[in-house]
Amino acid sequence: MMNDLAIKQLPAMLELWQTTLKWQPSDRQITQFQKLYEAIIVGNRQQNLTRITTPEDFWEKHLWDSLLGVALLRTEAKLAFKDSELNIIDIGTGAGFPGLPVAIANPNWEVTLVDSTQKKITFIGNTIPQLNLKNIHTLVARAENLGREPHYREYFDLALIRAVGKPAVCAEYILPLVKVGGLAILYRGHWEDKDTANLDSAVSQLGSEIELIHAQKTPISESIRHCIYLRKHFPIADKYPRAVGVPNQKPLSKIDN
Ligand code: SAH
Repeated sequence: MMNDLAIKQLPAMLELWQTTLKWQPSDRQITQFQKLYEAIIVGNRQQNLTRITTPEDFWEKHLWDSLLGVALLRTEAKLAFKDSELNIIDIGTGAGFPGLPVAIANPNWEVTLVDSTQKKITFIGNTIPQLNLKNIHTLVARAENLGREPHYREYFDLALIRAVGKPAVCAEYILPLVKVGGLAILYRGHWEDKDTANLDSAVSQLGSEIELIHAQKTPISESIRHCIYLRKHFPIADKYPRAVGVPNQKPLSKIDN
């Protein structure tokens, strides 16, 4: 407990939230962000959860970055959902990013956090009660297996994925989980036209299309972020996702392999 008292306060950044993402956290959400930060700092002493540990870095690279991807759903007409209660999945969530901040900011969304590493999910499971969150579900699973389970296949309105692999690999992990008409968001840093061309071909094999690419600088360190919005138009072909490991070893590309 003594150690926990030494953990610094996160900056509130109310103005910056408002000007950059057109949103502000409530007092309850500010408390939940702080508790999440404390849990990560304490958890980092037991296992390697993140290298991002100063309050400003944590605010920008974990909280703000996580919420950037979903902010556009409020401000961009063609990304808007009619329903306000969405079923969301975050694949390869690690210590809970982007899914945990997204669940904190949107208490009426049900958020399923998935990672293939038991230790990461155990950490999240221990953290949820401290945050007083009711809208989180956790699963230890490989994306390739989950996408073949009838209960999860084409079940989610929205799927998120950050820092898990190449864009085409991420697309194969998450698009099988999205319902027809739903969206997937790839959280990326740097992005070039050739990345779009590569991803285009993978995404069309998965019955989907790149709907929008959003570029924005992070508010403190001004590093570039890209959010790639994929719209699922058709049911996924039976052969996807391929067996565990295959999407990563042979990413979908121009050649249908
Ligand atoms: N999304 C988090 C963590 C990124 S690290 C963040 O942005 O901070 C990548 C995570 O993906 C690791 O925790 C790893 O265990 C998980 N992962 C990698 N391949 C996976 C797969 N095929 N299915 C599920 N989880 C996977």
